[in-house]
Amino acid sequence: MIISPFKRFRQSIALHLLTTIFSVYFLVAVVVTVVQLYKEYEDTKAKFYKEIQTLPATFNRGIVDSVWTYNKELLQSILLGMHNLPIVVGIKVESIDHKMDLQIGAVLNEKNEITYYDSSGKVTQQKEFGLGTDTLFKHEFPMDYQGVAFDHKVPLGQVTLYSNNQLVFDRVKYGFLLILINSIIKTIALWFIIYYFIKKYLGQPLEEFTTKIRNQDVQSPQAIDLNLPWTDTNELVILKDSYNQMIQGLNKHKILSITDKLTGLFNRLKLDEALNDEFNRSNRFNRTFGIIILDIDYFKRVNDTYGHQVGDQALIQFAKILKENIRKIDILGRWGGEEFMIICSEADFQGTIKLAQSLREIISKYDFPTIGNLSASFGVSIYDGDENIDKVIARADNALYKAKANGRNRVESK
Ligand code: GH3
Ligand code: MG
Ligand code: MG
Repeated sequence: MIISPFKRFRQSIALHLLTTIFSVYFLVAVVVTVVQLYKEYEDTKAKFYKEIQTLPATFNRGIVDSVWTYNKELLQSILLGMHNLPIVVGIKVESIDHKMDLQIGAVLNEKNEITYYDSSGKVTQQKEFGLGTDTLFKHEFPMDYQGVAFDHKVPLGQVTLYSNNQLVFDRVKYGFLLILINSIIKTIALWFIIYYFIKKYLGQPLEEFTTKIRNQDVQSPQAIDLNLPWTDTNELVILKDSYNQMIQGLNKHKILSITDKLTGLFNRLKLDEALNDEFNRSNRFNRTFGIIILDIDYFKRVNDTYGHQVGDQALIQFAKILKENIRKIDILGRWGGEEFMIICSEADFQGTIKLAQSLREIISKYDFPTIGNLSASFGVSIYDGDENIDKVIARADNALYKAKANGRNRVESK
């Protein structure tokens, strides 16, 4: 199965982890930033109010003097100067006799609506502050004349200063833009760094592990080794070791389950499986294969004469001789007590007969310890389009029976 690099990226554990981590991180960062922004806003606003409150101390004297002397020009120039301060958006002077009333910039009228005045104090339609002029707030202070000739204050009216929360926000805004850009850059850098390390320490080893498991030979899986960038024990190493242990156990179990304990050859179970495989393969590719079933002659006598143990040793030796004299691709197993089977892959009739004959001869000439000479009878059959494997086996069995009947130490075929 080939997976595209992009799909692999999208499925990677590193990406999933990072998406989760950074979603949470981003949420927390947003909340913290909003709280910080609010706090900064409130602090700046408080500073703003304070600055506004210090203005009367600076300008009150001039304003009072100009009102007292009915000097409108002077009053106007003072108000213009105040209006030029970045924290002031409007000023209203209300004198008791209303003769020196003057308003400049954005001020609130009796109905608390915003009215705009130009620099000469005339009402204008033009808004001086586009955004946020509706968030005006004001600070009022009295105009009291304290002339040298009086021993008490003479109230002349009051001055109202207008400012705007939007100005507060403008001040805070820039700082926060910096913080925002800063945290975005940090987040991106952090993302790449963490992604790199998760990929290196987790993603890649897991991917390597998966690939190696996928490439395992199902019949005989082998232990896997990983290129891990660390040496200490961790979850991945434990996972790998557990996998290898399992494979070892499976292999051992599998070998035991297909092996005959006494001779070390394949057992009946494995022979049945091999017969079916051979049958299917030959059937599909239109080929033939041979079966040899052989049975030791008069083996009962061996047991009776020398005992079961000597019989066992003879069987082990017998198996060894067979094993040494067949081709590598032939499958040899113990079919039953002292009966054996050889499946000759891709062999024809002549070849199978020839193998059986040569084995018969080798055995008959062999000098078994304690016992001396033994012989065996051979039944041979060839698969040649039979409808099932049992037919082929039955023919070999019949041929063996014939070999026994015809005097033993013979090869017969059917
Ligand atoms: P023949 O095949 O020539 O007709 O005579 P035989 O004496 O070999 O007769 P048969 O095949 O019927 O008997 C097989 C004997 O093989 C029976 C049993 O005592 C012996 N045998 C089967 N399995 C084992 C084994 O694992 N160990 C030993 N020692 N003997 C076995
Ligand atoms: Mg026998
Ligand atoms: Mg027998």
